[in-house]
Amino acid sequence: MQTEIALTDTEQNTRESVNRAVSLLRSGEVVALPTETVYGLGADAFNAAAVARIFEAKERPRFDPLIVHLPNKTMLHDVGEVPSDIAKTVTQLVETFWPGPLTILLPKKAAVPDIVTAGLPTVAVRQCQHPIFHRILKHFGGPVAAPSANRFGALSPTSASLVLDQLDGRIPLIVDGGACARGLESTIVRVRAATPKPVIEVLRPGPITEDDLKPFGKVTFAKRNDEVEDSAPEAPGMLATHYAPRTPLRLLENPSDFSADPEKRYALLSYRGQEKDGFLDLHPWAGVVVLSPGSGRVAEAGIRLFHLLGQLDKGGYDEIIAEPVPDRGIGRAILDKLRKASVKG
Ligand code: AMP
Ligand code: MG
Repeated sequence: MQTEIALTDTEQNTRESVNRAVSLLRSGEVVALPTETVYGLGADAFNAAAVARIFEAKERPRFDPLIVHLPNKTMLHDVGEVPSDIAKTVTQLVETFWPGPLTILLPKKAAVPDIVTAGLPTVAVRQCQHPIFHRILKHFGGPVAAPSANRFGALSPTSASLVLDQLDGRIPLIVDGGACARGLESTIVRVRAATPKPVIEVLRPGPITEDDLKPFGKVTFAKRNDEVEDSAPEAPGMLATHYAPRTPLRLLENPSDFSADPEKRYALLSYRGQEKDGFLDLHPWAGVVVLSPGSGRVAEAGIRLFHLLGQLDKGGYDEIIAEPVPDRGIGRAILDKLRKASVKG
């Protein structure tokens, strides 16, 4: 199969690309689409055969459920039930964060094929903010199931060329909408009724942070699967290894934890690229990339993370050493990804 890249650089090209994507979705095909988080691989969420193609293209195990993207907020009720005891909170979250990078788990409606939710009774839903994605869904007129457009377990792609690196020849079309604005996957939450406040449980940290969610309930964080004994993949984004570059990566909590093997070429994933952090001058690194060279700090680091990991992966290094980032705001999601990518032991 030839993988085509559809451009969105002019209005004329955008119109043609939107039409091409919509006709492929209607014919039960998969299409890679830009979102504000990472590129997604979309298919008609109500068409089980089309959704099966996502799993094939990604070589994703069938137990890993997909996120359902909605063309508008009201369609939420076509795919999920909103239990009355959490309706107020769900409405507040939807009104505040949609369209945007917040995914909410709800009991699923029968119309959603089991393959979408990996047989789970819940469905993960969100409304995406990217203008091209939005236009395609509006024309398509229905929900689109779309996980990240990478091979299972590999880095999430934040540009069309990174999608091509992983899925060339496996999918018919990539709609190029430029680099992703957020660069990290959506925050996934589940809401539970409780007194005195509803509980918002974060299953996957992401761009919508604890501080963003706090006004709407008590925010708790689910443990990663490597932190719990019974590791049924309720949210497989929580699997202990995920999002890994092919080059082994090690997250070092302290510079003093590092000892070099003289035979190896090491690259450093630096947070700010400053010597005072203690990592930059620790070793004659064969390569250094900086997550936040500007003043954006953790937000900037989030946008650049997957892009820079992809770049290091092509550098032929023996190991990538990652500096920790501050455990606050979106830094929490970055640390979560780095821990999952990190070799154990
Ligand atoms: P991706 O978009 O590739 O990050 O994949 C979607 C992720 O959403 C999955 O790996 C899960 O972590 C999560 N997810 C989707 N549906 C559910 C569900 N019904 N229950 C729990 N987690 C889900
Ligand atoms: Mg993914």
